[in-house]
Amino acid sequence: MTKTDIDRISNIIRTQDILRRHDFNFKKKFGQNFLTDHNILTKITQTAGLSKQVNVIEIGPGIGSLTQYLLEEAAEVMAFEIDKTLIPILDETLENYDNFTLVNADILKVDLATQIQQFKDPSLPIKVVANLPYYITTPILMHLIESKIPFAEFVVMMQKEVADRIAAKPNSKAYGSLSIAVQYYMEASVAFVVPRTVFIPAPNVDSAILKMVRREQPLVEVQDEAWFFKTMHSAFVHRRKTLMNNMQAAFGKENKPEIERLLAQAEIAPTIRAEALSIAEFGKLADALLPLKK
Ligand code: SAM
Repeated sequence: MTKTDIDRISNIIRTQDILRRHDFNFKKKFGQNFLTDHNILTKITQTAGLSKQVNVIEIGPGIGSLTQYLLEEAAEVMAFEIDKTLIPILDETLENYDNFTLVNADILKVDLATQIQQFKDPSLPIKVVANLPYYITTPILMHLIESKIPFAEFVVMMQKEVADRIAAKPNSKAYGSLSIAVQYYMEASVAFVVPRTVFIPAPNVDSAILKMVRREQPLVEVQDEAWFFKTMHSAFVHRRKTLMNNMQAAFGKENKPEIERLLAQAEIAPTIRAEALSIAEFGKLADALLPLKK
């Protein structure tokens, strides 16, 4: 089924008509900003590289603006929507698609591993494609990444500032624990920037599409993953302080000589700042400081 822009849910006149007929009120607390731009929606779908051999998970379908494009390209789309007032709207707007499953639930509370077994062909690769609710972008991403479900890719819209932080490289202002927490598992890059004008209502911030591709193996092999994340987070607690200062704050002043000895042994400069360390160097740091683990 090929549709012109005018027939689509995202067409501004059609969107306004749907919202009016259903007497829909936008809920700020759910981060509701709906897409109304054919070119951006096409670009998102193309960035996701979908085919009838790919299943899609969408978070927050809204009235189905992006969902409609996904349904036309993918094998199936399973969407999770928290707002129950959107359910009858989606039942109407997407009634002609038999490859759509709607789940009225908070994405942070669903058992995704069980849900994805409901795909007609659960063996197909799964991509996550969504215009995320900005108030919980990071919890959603960490929830999905840490679920250990092998999603092939994420193509997700978020606040530009958050996308920049996730994709940041060492020695930049945006680089920090969020960049490392995501890049440890995924290769992340900003695909394109999206202006505020293509949403209703317009958000207060600029947006960007972030593309994340799962790595076959985490970026660095460490002896103890939980310890790697703990030392890495500790190193960024006071960004402007040296690594030595942050490690002392985390593991105790009394351990100063031991920390100095372990850093020297691993050839890591105690005066360096966390933002100058690559993810591989954080791996080395975590392994070096493992004797401090209680
Ligand atoms: N996909 C639509 C679009 O692009 O027009 C709507 C995107 S809007 C930015 C975010 C959507 O996420 C809203 O429909 C909102 O109700 C939904 N949402 C917010 N919090 C959610 C949660 N915890 N779980 C599932 N959906 C959520």
